[in-house]
Amino acid sequence: MPETATTTDATYTAPDANGHFGSYGGAFVPEILHPVLRELREAYAHYKDEPEFDEEVRSLLREYAGRPTPLTYCNRLTDEIGGARIYAKREDLLHTGAHKLNNTIGQILLARRMGKDRIIAETGAGQHGVATATVCAKFGMDCIVYMGTEDMERQRLNVERMRLLGAEVRPATSGSQTLKDATNEAIRDWVSNPADTFYIIGSVVGPHPYPMMVRDFHRVIGEETREQLLEKEGRKAPDAIAACVGGGSNALGIFFPFIGDPGVEMVGAEAAGEGLDGRNAATLSNGTPGVLHGAMSVMLQDDAGQVEIAHSLSAGLDYPGVGPEHAHLRDTGRVSYPGVTDEEALEGVKLLSETEGIIPALETAHAVAILPDLARRMADAHGDDAVVIFNCSGRGDKDMDTIAANI
Ligand SMILES: *Cc1c(COP(=O)(O)O)cnc(C)c1O
Repeated sequence: MPETATTTDATYTAPDANGHFGSYGGAFVPEILHPVLRELREAYAHYKDEPEFDEEVRSLLREYAGRPTPLTYCNRLTDEIGGARIYAKREDLLHTGAHKLNNTIGQILLARRMGKDRIIAETGAGQHGVATATVCAKFGMDCIVYMGTEDMERQRLNVERMRLLGAEVRPATSGSQTLKDATNEAIRDWVSNPADTFYIIGSVVGPHPYPMMVRDFHRVIGEETREQLLEKEGRKAPDAIAACVGGGSNALGIFFPFIGDPGVEMVGAEAAGEGLDGRNAATLSNGTPGVLHGAMSVMLQDDAGQVEIAHSLSAGLDYPGVGPEHAHLRDTGRVSYPGVTDEEALEGVKLLSETEGIIPALETAHAVAILPDLARRMADAHGDDAVVIFNCSGRGDKDMDTIAANI
């Protein structure tokens, strides 16, 4: 293993030069895409350290997306639970209602620097498709979003949003007609149009350099949290951070700047759906190593290596894979990944809505659901001044039909 730093080390700098996080990551794509990925790696390596690029990203995040997002002290939630002091990092207040825009802004600016004028993306629940269509509208770029026909049916409102924003939504009609089929279609498109096309991937998944790049575009969440916590509590780090994990981008965004602080406990809530023994999307609990979406990670698959259909009430966590860095952080023990059931997530929606007046996305509610246990445990270990932060990754408006039908 080329990587020598352990994850509790302040010098943690994964991935290595070839995109490996421990034994995960890398790039497993058709040969024709190797030069395209090399071009992307080189462009990203160049621009990420260029002050003008950085300023352009920051300026858009500030003026268009609405950063910095607040770090809200949840006094009623804290009292209700009776443990550590709880803060919410408010990505639900970002434009389009979730953290996803941090990443699509970064990638579209990179695409422009690289002279690519055609954007493709794939989407399952439609949230990443909307975030991509949003930045394409803002920059007047062609936008094609692949989506399974089954998902188009289930997420009709997001299909309408994408169309209103000027994107073309192309149905993926093969296989289960869901996210993995849309991904296959997007990769096929990319293979056919490598010169002018930029593929905007929506989480810390995909071939190197995407997991690193997407993480870096979301690091702003954790970096702001650090500054805001210092201002509010006079401390450099909280005792614990909680986030939900689908592909894992909002979680890594808030975790990453604190990985080198061994005193910060990190917990990523996965979707256990109907339970860890039933239908679920708990990849890090139940998955096995395999290649999905162009990278080695862990995934839900049957004995023959066929991808299994994931299940979660929350469309954004309903994914049979997970980013390779999370698989690595699990193996090293730096982050723990409990499963949260649909039922527990619905309790989380109620808890945050009733105590704080914040209706969270169903994805986010998985992180809320682990707060009672985490906040009490932190207070037991560190006293009443203990601080727990959770990433409030998105707002619940989009989920109201599902919530109302199940609560
Ligand atoms: C898409 C989404 C997620 C899951 O994606 P990650 O890459 O795991 O962050 C979580 N929360 C919200 C609100 C989302 O829209």
